[in-house]
Amino acid sequence: MARYIGSVCAQCRREGEKLYLKGDRCMTEKCAVARRAYPPGPHGQSGSFRRKSSDYANQLREKQKARRIYGVFERQFRRYFTEAARSTGVTGVALLQCLERRLDNVAYRLGFAPSRKAARQLVLHGHFSVNGKPINVPSYLLSAGDVITVLPNSRKSNYFQAMEKELSRHSVSEWLTLDAANWSGSVVNLPSRQQIDTPLKEQLIVEYYSR
Ligand code: SF4
Repeated sequence: MARYIGSVCAQCRREGEKLYLKGDRCMTEKCAVARRAYPPGPHGQSGSFRRKSSDYANQLREKQKARRIYGVFERQFRRYFTEAARSTGVTGVALLQCLERRLDNVAYRLGFAPSRKAARQLVLHGHFSVNGKPINVPSYLLSAGDVITVLPNSRKSNYFQAMEKELSRHSVSEWLTLDAANWSGSVVNLPSRQQIDTPLKEQLIVEYYSR
């Protein structure tokens, strides 16, 4: 399976904003965007990135930003777009709903992991079940009514034990429910655009793929 092995923080610096890819560290002064507010690479400080962007560049950057936030590679992202374009709803919103329905994203939203990247690792290591069936595929798409649970054996691990208190205080968006006492959560319905707080201009992504 392909995976990104470069610097995670360089992705935020390239987009010029915090993408919150590292969980708690992103809230501290150690955040690379706060310390080095210019693009990575030898020409990062030269100013060449500060030229006025074309429409195409803006669309490309928005698409890249979305991929980075959700940790999705190009081929899969394009597949999500194709699926969204085929749906009856607004393409941009359908695309975001697709991304939000991923198992790693829902595990993150429910508070089982501090970042989507960490949630992806937990899913890959087989710590979750969906509707009672163990699933270790981060891209697994959840539907309304699906219940995601931390497996009983996993709850005893140091990682989950350490997060127990924090989980009981965690609040989730209205399209999800969390039962912290039982280490589970469910998808009530697909999120509306207002319920997705990811700072993306999805229309630019639609324009990018519609060229
Ligand atoms: Fe991005 Fe977080 Fe790294 Fe800051 S600490 S640059 S927000 S991943």
